Amino acid sequence: MAGKKVLVLGGGFGGVQSAINARSALDSAHEITVIDKDRVSHLCGMNPLLIVGERETNKTGRSLGRLTNRGIKFIQANIESIDTDAQEVITSSGTFNYDYLVIALGAAYDWDAVPGAKGAYSFYDFNQARRLRRRLTRIKRGKIVLAASKPPYKCPPAPFETAMILHWWAGHKGIRKDLEISVYIPEPGPLGVAGKDASMKVRNALEKRGIELVTSAGVTEVSIDGREANFSNGSFTTADVIATVPVHKLPDVVAMSGIAKDKPWVPVNSGTLETSISNVFAIGDVNVVPAGEFSIPKAGVFAAAQGSKVGEIIGKRINKSEDPEPYDGVGFCYLAYSGNRSATVGGEFLANGGPVTILSEPTTSKMKSKVRFEKNWRNFKV
Ligand SMILES: Cc1cc2nc3c(=O)[nH]c(=O)nc-3n(C[C@H](O)[C@H](O)[C@H](O)COP(=O)(O)OP(=O)(O)OC[C@H]3O[C@@H](n4cnc5c(N)ncnc54)[C@H](O)[C@@H]3O)c2cc1C
Repeated sequence: MAGKKVLVLGGGFGGVQSAINARSALDSAHEITVIDKDRVSHLCGMNPLLIVGERETNKTGRSLGRLTNRGIKFIQANIESIDTDAQEVITSSGTFNYDYLVIALGAAYDWDAVPGAKGAYSFYDFNQARRLRRRLTRIKRGKIVLAASKPPYKCPPAPFETAMILHWWAGHKGIRKDLEISVYIPEPGPLGVAGKDASMKVRNALEKRGIELVTSAGVTEVSIDGREANFSNGSFTTADVIATVPVHKLPDVVAMSGIAKDKPWVPVNSGTLETSISNVFAIGDVNVVPAGEFSIPKAGVFAAAQGSKVGEIIGKRINKSEDPEPYDGVGFCYLAYSGNRSATVGGEFLANGGPVTILSEPTTSKMKSKVRFEKNWRNFKV
């Protein structure tokens, strides 16, 4: 059989997992290539603990160059266009053609959607988290506001997790009584995607810690000095630190390819994650997989599971065996309540009859397993 070319765009959670699974299914006659603009990928799930100094800045990344050891080619390049008719991808390092394409380019941030947000703080990427970490070392009193503008955003628990970690950290520093912590969200309640029970538990956990929660209040503007924010419900607040969750959007290169058919995210077959074009898959944050009244959350665990499934499907198609079981929409994320305790939240999002979800109690053993997960991720084991 002539060797096939599997091209994976994006070396995040989903892309890496699809490449690893396809590699394990295919013999060396077939080529698997991952392209990413960055050589080092960072685990955003560590950011909430990173900003309070509970994780080391030099221990949040993994080098995609190490994929070579697993028989996967890595090209560091900016992806400039995707042409599914010609079956080729143009990058800053040349043009690549393919037989099977996996689009795993994640969600991009639209910093212009909320005027002023770009100059304020955030914890939604590694560099911003480091900047916020530096700022937090200097704070002794005042008010910290975490503010989201519009769903969907990556890791729906992240704003609440971050607020609870800030509460715990401020308590340890002895400044909690002098520090207000508020979370503003556009949704009518926290974590609606995980169901009513989980939403109520998060609401109670915030209340118990004296963290203000303001719902149906997406941030619409931040002042140039980053000290005042306006919200969609007409309210405003001043604060010492305003950290926003950026508006998420389809990466421009994917929008330009036409594969999303002018939809906000790439529509896919929910069982195979295949787009409307045969043997072109879209996985993780870049796609939309409807699940009940919401869709599968934009989280690494789902991106990785979708990557596994697509790697398996590509392997079976090339090896001419039957397609595997359809993608099941199962996934659990950690939701840390402090530096010591974590819960898990997730479930079966594509269950017959609608998503079945659960938020567990936070425990020290789940924090230990979160730490193991972080270590395994850095070693390409998850
Ligand atoms: C604060 C925070 C906390 C989080 N916590 C968790 C958690 O606890 N658990 C969890 O499961 N998820 C968590 N997430 C979400 C998780 O990080 C994302 O959902 C996940 O990374 C999505 O994986 P992906 O493969 O779809 O995309 P990504 O991991 O975003 O990968 C996309 C890749 O594409 C590359 N790329 C994009 N455009 C181009 C281009 N034009 N050219 C070349 N390369 C390009 C990028 O460099 C990137 O490496 C968190 C996110 C944040 C921000």
